[in-house]
Amino acid sequence: MSSAYIDTYYSRTVSTSEIYPAAAGRIQADVCIVGGGLACLTAALKLARSGRKVVLLEAQRVAWGASGRNGGFVSAGYATGLSSIERRVGKDQARELFRLSMEGVGIVRRTIDELGIEDAKLVPGIAKALRYHSRGALQAACETQRREFGLSLRYLPRDEVRSLFVSPKYHEAILDEDAFHFHPLNYGRALAREAARLGAAIHENSAVISADLDGARKIVRTNVAEISAEHVVFTTGGYTGAVAPALKRAFLPIATYVLLTEYAPERVQGAIRTRAAILDDRRAGDYYRLVGDGSRILWGGRITTRTTDPRDIAALLRREMVTTYPQLADLKVEIAWSGLMAYARHLMPQIGQLKPGVWYCTAFGGHGMNTTAIGGMVIAEGIVGESDRYRLFAPFGLTWNGGILGRAAAQLTYWAYQATDAAKEFRSR
Ligand SMILES: Cc1cc2nc3c(=O)[nH]c(=O)nc-3n(C[C@H](O)[C@H](O)[C@H](O)COP(=O)(O)OP(=O)(O)OC[C@H]3O[C@@H](n4cnc5c(N)ncnc54)[C@H](O)[C@@H]3O)c2cc1C
Repeated sequence: MSSAYIDTYYSRTVSTSEIYPAAAGRIQADVCIVGGGLACLTAALKLARSGRKVVLLEAQRVAWGASGRNGGFVSAGYATGLSSIERRVGKDQARELFRLSMEGVGIVRRTIDELGIEDAKLVPGIAKALRYHSRGALQAACETQRREFGLSLRYLPRDEVRSLFVSPKYHEAILDEDAFHFHPLNYGRALAREAARLGAAIHENSAVISADLDGARKIVRTNVAEISAEHVVFTTGGYTGAVAPALKRAFLPIATYVLLTEYAPERVQGAIRTRAAILDDRRAGDYYRLVGDGSRILWGGRITTRTTDPRDIAALLRREMVTTYPQLADLKVEIAWSGLMAYARHLMPQIGQLKPGVWYCTAFGGHGMNTTAIGGMVIAEGIVGESDRYRLFAPFGLTWNGGILGRAAAQLTYWAYQATDAAKEFRSR
């Protein structure tokens, strides 16, 4: 029996329905990739284009995890800011890493163009908004980023941001015109289709249950298949289990939520008068955009270390939406869902080799749409010997996640940030 996608806006509007067969029997490959999200699919496509025999094993469906159910925001950067990256690796390497993150946005955009993925529904523009006065700091940051990285950023003063997003909450914003939003599930499935066309063997419903990684050829097993490969890549994200203990110890699974409102074009367009998406700068702040040709809002927000779903995700998020847009008080929620992200304690991706031929590419946190693209790309480049850019991530190793205490500390830190954000907002009233 095949597993299904969970019920989301994306699974309801997915364009194709092909199901890839489960892996069976003994299979030989150059590279076996475990976990079929966007990190995996980007690597699989690059490897297939480089003529490698790739076997992809996904426990559920292609892009079933975070990659196929996220907010769809694609922008430069990582889950942590430039200054904290700089503190760890110095100014030059931090800038190199930031430029790589911009390359990730470019990879997604170029792939959509090259493959003509129209159902990825790319829409340009993401505004990053503040819910307090920065007293010139936001405008200065906008200028610096424009100068240093050549990003197409436009500062939006209060009146302009409120004319686009009709909410009393926003004080100023930066509109990033290089960033965009899209339909990540259709994108992921298009990558799988192209990789398969080039000869990659894609297997859904193929959970990996054990692996022997010590020999020259690595052995990976599902219930009914045994894959022998020169290279194994783990891209199991927030769903990483016991099959990769070194990875499981090194990340925290963090849940986050999204809702989709009812069909109400006039009401939603009265509140959000642009097709650009918006996110606010609070830790795990709100992010939302119009979808379905401007007829509904897709609204995301909140994070928690609790990995089981709260009873009413919809009510939780809806409260946020109505506080931001009181005029939407009677707008109904049609569906809401959750997903798991992988966070390392240093908040940067974990990309590298556990031992020769055993690769990992994970922990993209809440900023995975551009970073899975570069993660998949640099790992594939490493495997085919085209570059060793994956080493740029070596300073962000597989540090222990701290176990139960690490989880508690992460939740407390989030609450502390929430309190600081609320205080800043209160002072700006
Ligand atoms: C609700 C939500 C909203 C988000 N919004 C955004 C956003 O707007 N912009 C952004 O940049 N990022 C966003 N993110 C983060 C982003 O989605 C993730 O960082 C990214 O998708 C992670 O991709 P991945 O390939 O590492 O993992 P995933 O996409 O989670 O894929 C991992 C896959 O591995 C499979 N797997 C696990 N174990 C096994 C096994 N043993 N055998 C076989 N397969 C296995 C799972 O089934 C899963 O499909 C969001 C995340 C969530 C959850």
